[in-house]
Amino acid sequence: MFTLAQYPLPYATDALAPYISQETLETHHGKHVATYIDNLNKLIENTPYDEVSLDEIIVQSAGRPSDKKIFNNAAQIYNHNFFFQGMCPNCTTEMPVEIIAAFGSEEDFKKQFKSAASSLFGSGYTWLVQDGDQLKIINTANADTPMVYDMKPLLNLDVWEHAYYLDYKNRRADFIDNFLDNLVNWDFVAENLRN
Ligand code: MN
Repeated sequence: MFTLAQYPLPYATDALAPYISQETLETHHGKHVATYIDNLNKLIENTPYDEVSLDEIIVQSAGRPSDKKIFNNAAQIYNHNFFFQGMCPNCTTEMPVEIIAAFGSEEDFKKQFKSAASSLFGSGYTWLVQDGDQLKIINTANADTPMVYDMKPLLNLDVWEHAYYLDYKNRRADFIDNFLDNLVNWDFVAENLRN
């Protein structure tokens, strides 16, 4: 049994305004994530998945087409928790030097991340990942997650329309800019990078 209380927002629902409104966070976390958790609990009841961790559920169900619904709901819980952890209110954190070195400059990193997030067609996430000893920006579709490709996630941006539509309507580019300029918790990224 998973509960929403196991995946709390690390700040108040009004803390990211005006970049992400209280209404969006209440819906995104309190409704969307809660639904993924409810669905997963129903799907895994009386199955071997009921005994293992969320990460194990994701990895085990990823290779089984018959467990696609389980994968989708479990990965969405993970992806959202990672996304919410990766932001902070009134952030004064600095982009880690490893990222600046890998992409050339802070601006170059943002340009590449924005280009990937803008070009993602349909629903999915843009990620900064560590793949071997390389830092890469990748897109994943729907609920897909880098964990199943043996890549270490460092940062993600949810570009499903539900993540920004109430605040930005069709202006995804402005949402991406505000995420990169005002919301990323670089200390969270550095911690992932150095662990
Ligand atoms: Mn979402």
